Amino acid sequence: DVGESFDSIESLMGRLAPAAKTASSAPKKPVGLSKRVRVEPPKPPEPTEPADSDVDPRLRSIDPKLLETIQNEIIHRVDTVTWSQIAGLEHAKTTIKEIVIWPMLRPDIFVGLRGPPKGLLLFGPPGTGKTMIGKCIASQAKATFFSISASSLTSKWVGEGEKLVRALFACARAMQPSVIFIDEIDSLLTQRTDGEFEASRRIKTEFLVQFDGAATSDADRILVIGATNRPQELDEAARRRLVKRLYIPLPDAPARLTIVQTLLASQRHELSNEHMEEICTKTDGYSGADVDNLCREAALGPIRSIENIMEVAADQVRSILIHDFRDAMTQVRASVSTADLDLYLDWNSKFGSLS
Ligand code: ADP
Repeated sequence: DVGESFDSIESLMGRLAPAAKTASSAPKKPVGLSKRVRVEPPKPPEPTEPADSDVDPRLRSIDPKLLETIQNEIIHRVDTVTWSQIAGLEHAKTTIKEIVIWPMLRPDIFVGLRGPPKGLLLFGPPGTGKTMIGKCIASQAKATFFSISASSLTSKWVGEGEKLVRALFACARAMQPSVIFIDEIDSLLTQRTDGEFEASRRIKTEFLVQFDGAATSDADRILVIGATNRPQELDEAARRRLVKRLYIPLPDAPARLTIVQTLLASQRHELSNEHMEEICTKTDGYSGADVDNLCREAALGPIRSIENIMEVAADQVRSILIHDFRDAMTQVRASVSTADLDLYLDWNSKFGSLS
């Protein structure tokens, strides 16, 4: 649980401008970053500004409104995520524990040569657990989890992206240990510069400057994790900074079995071991998210055979059967093409980290 560090953030923010105070005392809703329109209600003039000495010195130069945005939309309270909740991916999990988690928990031992990387890239098909890994790292390292989709920097916070990047890193420094998870990092650190918007270029430059300035001392504990489905879009500057580059592949058969078993554990079903094996074989090529969708679709099978949903007793809903899965497979297909997989393997052989 990262509750502890989150509380300290609140106390940190509590000493900021009154606007930020109001926001932090409001009830917290989990907020997605996508598709939300920001409406700024007009604020009455503030009668008293907090004395400069009340504000954490590292955040003094940051616009309190940006800090409020970061607190409300970018810092995420992560429920405890454990390694065992992530099926398969043994290689990635072991590597991450060694090079990221231990150094964050024991910065006194992991100094100098053993110093942790500042940047980690998780690449691979969509829906394979990259975001889960990011959350797990933050949860296990008891770190503050900053999560933002790179495309929202240019699209959602038009005109503010550059300042937001600066504020984000300032907060990450003030609230260490910190994990900054950037989804779709390819859209921020793309190699395509032709016709690139001036604004995007400025955000990218600011990001690189901030990245290089972050964690300059051994005592700093800030990790930037980039996730992407399109690693081939990343430029050389991005690859140089995201020194550890881990391929997060599709789940193999045992991993798919684990996902199905975990999802079915809380459901009534009559699936034998042979049935489980059938499901695993027929889902070759499915991502973790596809398997998840398949199980959800199959779980609706028993409901669809009910004539009057309002009257049926909950314990009268029949168990999930193999034919529910067979039907669901006609609806939920593998979302990743073999051609795409070849691209990942190729990029992994050129730029991926083996350990
Ligand atoms: P990504 O960030 O790689 O696109 P996510 O981490 O958001 O994918 O995964 C999407 C969903 O798919 C998860 O919430 C989970 O339900 C399921 N999932 C994907 N990979 C795994 C995995 N390795 N183990 C368990 N569940 C998984």
